[in-house]
Amino acid sequence: MNDSILELHNISYSYHSLTGEIPALLNISFHVKQGEFLAIVGPSGCGKSTLLSIIARLLTPEAGTIAFQSPDGSLDYPKTGYMLQHDHLLEWRTILKNVTLGLEIAHRDTPENIAFAEKLLEDYDLYKFKEKHPGELSGGMRQRAALIRTLVMNPEILLLDEPFSALDYQTRLSVSGDIGNIIRTTGKTAILITHDLSEAISLADRIIVLTGRPATVRKELPVHLTKADQSPLAARSAPEFHHYFNLLWKELSHEK
Ligand code: ADP
Repeated sequence: MNDSILELHNISYSYHSLTGEIPALLNISFHVKQGEFLAIVGPSGCGKSTLLSIIARLLTPEAGTIAFQSPDGSLDYPKTGYMLQHDHLLEWRTILKNVTLGLEIAHRDTPENIAFAEKLLEDYDLYKFKEKHPGELSGGMRQRAALIRTLVMNPEILLLDEPFSALDYQTRLSVSGDIGNIIRTTGKTAILITHDLSEAISLADRIIVLTGRPATVRKELPVHLTKADQSPLAARSAPEFHHYFNLLWKELSHEK
């Protein structure tokens, strides 16, 4: 497996309903490297969320296998953490109580783990809001709190399903930059689903383009940008940016 944390081999999946079968994924193969930021783009409804659910082991593939290597050296499947479009913060709990909810449910709310949650809040500028309620925070702060709630569980792979699409454009730019930087500094492996090509190019090390349903891998595109800093604006101003954008646009225009 070399430095891969996951290797998907010929994964296929169909939904079955009373009206028939809906094939969602067909012979999907790709790998994800340890510490890599991978983006997955494809037409709406092609099967991207289904693919993340399979990686999270919420769904079992009908065919194909996933080979894995846990970074902690154990023989266990790497721990995954999900971040969704809506933050699902609970209004009646404070921010600290929201970010420690997973720990509480898993009976892992030890003083050390609570201290870790507080440190993450401090590192990502939310410490002074820890006793506030979600309604008192901006959309961007709420998404950072949602990421911290995922990070306190110490996942090895972060699964990000359109996590910025509910935000307005300007907030989206800055929050995606912030969250991209947090993920890079923590050294986590991340798989991001997005329909925003600019977001995929500015955040990812590699982009996988899926075809229309049933999704197959249409193209894999490694991204190398010459940029002054890690901000989303620097990525969008990189000389290579438009080349990648045009390439992805062309690939996706063949798909409906
Ligand atoms: P994407 O994330 O790319 O928008 P999804 O993975 O959510 O696509 O869905 C892929 C296809 O499978 C869609 O056509 C969707 O309608 C169908 N689908 C998703 N979930 C179910 C389900 N529980 N039952 C039946 N069909 C589903």
